[in-house]
Amino acid sequence: MTIFSSREARKAVEHALPETISFLQELVRVPSLLGNEEPAQALVEQRLRDLGFDVRSLVPDEAELAENPNSGIPLLSYEARRCLVGTLGRGSGKSLLLNGHVDVVSEEPADRWTKPPYGAAIEDGRLYGRGACDMKGGIAAMLLAVEAALSAGELPGPLVYQSVIEEECGGNGALAACLAGPLADGVVIGEPTNGSMDLVAPGVIWARITLEGSSRHASHADEGSNPIETAFAVTAALHGLEASLNEKPEPEFAGVERPYLLNVGALHSGDWPSMTPGRAELDVRLGFPIRMDPGEAQSLLAAAVGRAEGSAKVEFRGFRARGYAFESDTPLVRLLADCHEEVRGSALVAEPARATTDLRFFEPGQAVCYGPTGEGLHGVDEWVDLESIAETAAVLALLIRRWGDGHL
Ligand SMILES: [Zn+2]
Repeated sequence: MTIFSSREARKAVEHALPETISFLQELVRVPSLLGNEEPAQALVEQRLRDLGFDVRSLVPDEAELAENPNSGIPLLSYEARRCLVGTLGRGSGKSLLLNGHVDVVSEEPADRWTKPPYGAAIEDGRLYGRGACDMKGGIAAMLLAVEAALSAGELPGPLVYQSVIEEECGGNGALAACLAGPLADGVVIGEPTNGSMDLVAPGVIWARITLEGSSRHASHADEGSNPIETAFAVTAALHGLEASLNEKPEPEFAGVERPYLLNVGALHSGDWPSMTPGRAELDVRLGFPIRMDPGEAQSLLAAAVGRAEGSAKVEFRGFRARGYAFESDTPLVRLLADCHEEVRGSALVAEPARATTDLRFFEPGQAVCYGPTGEGLHGVDEWVDLESIAETAAVLALLIRRWGDGHL
């Protein structure tokens, strides 16, 4: 069997790159926010079918997910919302699974963007837009890799492609796709990794904290609590919990400052300067150690809130994600590192992240996050570097063929 070379991979990638960039622009132009993922799924489905995948639609089953301790806590019904599972090839070699999420987070504050958030403008080799980097650029790179790998003939091993929803709010799309199968001998998620790879992430939970107060005229402001001000006390208590979690970070996070972060993501309360608000809702996210169970993290969070304000109501929703640490010394990661070095001329290093991904659903196994380069994820002026999409695709094209071929 002849070995697919990096030159061949790069050539095949260059050939298909213009169409891939058009596909990415179309994908970025659909605002696939929570509950509105379908237009993006339709685009990915068409691209999968064009590549020859058999594509199955999968609506996450809320009852089945609720029984699974690794599930997120849904914010929304799954009615008319689907994941896709594509399968390609009948080769007898090792199988590989590629996974990408089509959901994106809010573009707010939209008026601070210098390019339209869903415009997919290209400037100086960068494509701008919400989701361009996280992770529609990775989706484009993975599918371009498949196209380049196919240019050398039928694939040596079966390929599975999961196009999932809700990576950004609990991971139930990926979990549903994994429960439905098929799975594979190796897994790559094309999340942006900026020239390195991700194998490690902390646990993550979300909570909504509701604070009630007596709604009253500002002339009685001093006669009781103010939920907005109580929210600050609660936030301070949660930062205390964050500090205690970060006292002794786990060895997997060596070199990372404060791996377990609290984020106050939303505070909804009040509407009038001369009125003490009757309620405040505080939405927070907490990172926590890999070895801590999400249930324990939830208890710690609830206890910290309770110490600051005994009457606060704490609801858990969205993320209930355990942390993960995947092996770097596996045949998959070694092969990825070889392909990376061959195409990009530098060693592939692992960078532990302070955010989670859907990778946790593939444990135990051989799995890695590896994708393009960009900036502005979950912020303004998000962009992805187009050359990094081509390089990622060339690396993954080599990986797809050699993994299936068993060249280790
Ligand atoms: Zn992502």
